[in-house]
Amino acid sequence: MLRYDLHCHSTHSDGLLTPTALVQRAAQRGVDVLALTDHDEVSGLTEAQVAAGETDLRLVAGAELSVSWRDITLHVLGLRVDAECPVLRNGLAAIRAGRAQRARRIGDALADAGIPGAYEGALRFVTSERLISRTHFARFLVDSGHVRETHDVFKRYLVPGKPGHVEHAWADLPEAIEWIHAAGGRAVLAHPGRYKVGPTALRELLADFTDAGGDGIEVLSPSHNATEVADFAGHARRLGLLASSGSDYHGPGESHVDLGGMPPLPAGLTPVWHDW
Ligand code: AMP
Ligand code: MN
Ligand code: MN
Ligand code: MN
Repeated sequence: MLRYDLHCHSTHSDGLLTPTALVQRAAQRGVDVLALTDHDEVSGLTEAQVAAGETDLRLVAGAELSVSWRDITLHVLGLRVDAECPVLRNGLAAIRAGRAQRARRIGDALADAGIPGAYEGALRFVTSERLISRTHFARFLVDSGHVRETHDVFKRYLVPGKPGHVEHAWADLPEAIEWIHAAGGRAVLAHPGRYKVGPTALRELLADFTDAGGDGIEVLSPSHNATEVADFAGHARRLGLLASSGSDYHGPGESHVDLGGMPPLPAGLTPVWHDW
């Protein structure tokens, strides 16, 4: 059986490893098929493809799109996309354009909460001038001694109700799925267990996602416990959605599950890669 890992990040968004280092690490760890899915970005794929050519690993072109649904942010993976597709590229550029202004507002919000210099501090951790994310603020908050670990940042800061949170409008769900489809890819709802919704809103979200043409959900993710895996497997079967699996790896010392670290998919699901 081939080992798939269809979700990870490089220095082209908020990962710690370059595309080359990421591909080499995945190959060493026995990954057969790896999707690079940088946030709102496909610029790392060229380098990743070259690196993959030096190994037995097959690279899948992907991206993780930031989407607003009601008052929450969703992440939708585009898998096996044509990274040259202008519709997708323009869509991603539009999402990224909002990030710079948002980052300044996050900096202002943290300053109001007594942490000055966070915007400039976060910039020191940015590895692609095209993209700044909350992860870069998280790394600054850890580095400056405000929080011990990046993971803890997202309990005390940068999330709704906490200092450094700002409202932001990302892409809407139907348009994000449209861009992915225009690029010939499959749209997969990333880590559904991460969204702060009750069972009713989750069903509504999944209904909106399938109505908009969504193809699959990420059943296996480090964000999911065993109950959630079973729950999302059930939703996938009920709705006829394809199932995906990904480590969401961001880098050594930061991600507790390494590349290729997810177990096999539960039985009775159609993997998103079934016809690749
Ligand atoms: P942004 O897209 O700028 O809102 O940043 C979102 C990123 O922050 C995610 O992709 C993760 O890398 C990181 N993040 C969000 N929540 C958490 C969390 N609870 N633990 C660790 N990292 C998180
Ligand atoms: Mn991230
Ligand atoms: Mn995500
Ligand atoms: Mn991710």
